[in-house]
Amino acid sequence: MKNFQVLVVEDDAPVRNLITTTLKAHDYRFTVAVNGNTAVMEAASHNPDVVLLDLGLPDIDGVEVIRRVRQWSNVPIIVISARSEDNDKIDALDAGADDYLTKPFSVEELLARLRATQRRQALILGNSSQQPVFVNGQLRIDYPSGCAYLNGEEMHLTPIEYKLLRLLAQNVGKVLTHKFITQSVWGGSWENDVGSLRVFMATLRKKLEKAPGSPQYIQTHIGIGYRMVKIE
Ligand code: CA
Repeated sequence: MKNFQVLVVEDDAPVRNLITTTLKAHDYRFTVAVNGNTAVMEAASHNPDVVLLDLGLPDIDGVEVIRRVRQWSNVPIIVISARSEDNDKIDALDAGADDYLTKPFSVEELLARLRATQRRQALILGNSSQQPVFVNGQLRIDYPSGCAYLNGEEMHLTPIEYKLLRLLAQNVGKVLTHKFITQSVWGGSWENDVGSLRVFMATLRKKLEKAPGSPQYIQTHIGIGYRMVKIE
């Protein structure tokens, strides 16, 4: 973890101390910002590997921080939200956040999110997201031919199911909102399509998951969206 630099953006001292103590104990390097404007400057000057970003900040909103940082940087952003409203998380994800943690969170959850982010970064830096063939566990997708294979056997997917699977694979490790998915797959107005999305996701899972009730590949984030998990 020694070369992994974390930018911690949190105005609440007890939460900030919990995070920095955890990072220290696990040999992460970090810098700290206690408001949004400082966060944007720190992101620009320190080139962090990941940003842990509280959404409720004293000056500018965390979602605004994401919008500004995304103008020049693809750094992974994990949102930390005290608010129970899913809308804030959804806005943050749509603005370009990669993942979220809901307060109160455990040290284990925080570390798990950081590890997941590191794996995702390794994948991106290894450029495998740009490769013509995607492999995750027993799933293999051959993008040029538009074919997906599970356990070496071709999956029989409808065009919509394939588009969904490809979108999730191309964003493996990242939570995609209903809005992002429906707009990417169908375009146009998305509110009406969340119902269709659920239906297609259910049929895709029947083909992909050994036990659709406890999915291995595609996680549901209730009220928010879906994520394909990177399988070790
Ligand atoms: Ca706060």
